Amino acid sequence: MIQNPKFIILLYHKIGKYPQNAKFPGLYVTEEDFDRQIKYLKNSGYTFLTLSELKTVYDYYFVGADPAVKLRLTGSLQNLINGKNKYATITFDDGSKSVYSNGLKVMAANGVSGAVFMVSGLIGGFNDWDIKNGENRDEMLAADELKEMINYGIEIGAHTKTHPRLTRISPDKAFNEIAASKKDLENLLGININFFAYPYGDFNEEVAALVKKAGFLGACITKTGIVKRGVDFFTLKRVAIRHNTDFFKFKRKIFKVKLFY
Ligand SMILES: [Zn+2]
Repeated sequence: MIQNPKFIILLYHKIGKYPQNAKFPGLYVTEEDFDRQIKYLKNSGYTFLTLSELKTVYDYYFVGADPAVKLRLTGSLQNLINGKNKYATITFDDGSKSVYSNGLKVMAANGVSGAVFMVSGLIGGFNDWDIKNGENRDEMLAADELKEMINYGIEIGAHTKTHPRLTRISPDKAFNEIAASKKDLENLLGININFFAYPYGDFNEEVAALVKKAGFLGACITKTGIVKRGVDFFTLKRVAIRHNTDFFKFKRKIFKVKLFY
């Protein structure tokens, strides 16, 4: 058995060229850059996972004694284990329509999966929380687009109902934002929603406990790092990719995060 697998979770927001008047151009990555980054990881031997797959593979390596874990690893999941020790998970926060219109074809062409964290109260709407901060209007994914992505193999996660800073609202309100986003997406899509991402990466111990209480299996933050043995699944670190992450910077980020985190 391979003793020390590496799991890297990448964080993206929007795929496409950023509009000239974008206030947060960092949130965009062009299709060309996205394609080059995926190809680089593939050529470097990375296997791409959804977050639920990451949890299963992680459990297999690090919690492996549990027979229930072995049971979950039957069939096609077995292919994720054999001879593999480098894993990448592409995640998109917010649920921008550009992930569907520009990102999905790049992922499909490369045969890779990933996960989208959707703001459940804004399905088919706009990025209201960002517009308040002076950002351009950006269309959000619609229900049929989410379903199409699920059919392709993309995992859908929850990102609250309205994208608040969870540490700055009451625990009752925070729990409602977290739990309702899970329930709304499950009812709409007819699948389990297993993972969560904290809006703005804003969390504390209390908020993380609320996410656990709502029934999620894990949650992503925005701090830099990789998933290692003994990780707290409710504070999963990621590697943020931005519009100015050129190919050299991308390779350096991946190299550094493996070495130092
Ligand atoms: Zn967000």
